[in-house]
Amino acid sequence: MKLTQPVQNAINDQINMEFQSSYTYLAMAAYCERLMMRGCAHWMRLQSQEEMGHAMRLFNFMIERNAPIVLQAIPAPKGEYADVVAMFADALKAEEKVSDSINKLYELCLKEKAFATASELEWFLKEQVEEEKQARVVLTKFQMVKGDNAALLDMDRELAHRVAE
Ligand code: MG
Repeated sequence: MKLTQPVQNAINDQINMEFQSSYTYLAMAAYCERLMMRGCAHWMRLQSQEEMGHAMRLFNFMIERNAPIVLQAIPAPKGEYADVVAMFADALKAEEKVSDSINKLYELCLKEKAFATASELEWFLKEQVEEEKQARVVLTKFQMVKGDNAALLDMDRELAHRVAE
């Protein structure tokens, strides 16, 4: 069964959103490097790679379904933040937006009776719960240590321990 046009379009849009996420996290990594927060930068680099993985998962799904992939322009991400708290607040907001988009895509698949695609998207639904939680935990910790440089360095050391999934 061929993917319907609305489903094709929505998946292509989602691929773009995942690349945007990857690019945004990469810009966040650069910002952290500039602050000499290398642990934080490492965390952001891994997150950027994960987002690339999300994009490629959908990319490969489109190929499996013999559906045309239309890559779109990626807007320039923000490169400057007030501080790491503001940066992680942005990251959480962005993840909530992605969750919203995946939810809408899932709803569209049910409407279009694209059940195999809906099943593929279930992985993304679960992943977004994890992504939001992750960003929320780090944001909350940074909010707690705000202004305390020793605690900030500690947090940076903690984020350096993140390993790729
Ligand atoms: Mg993602």
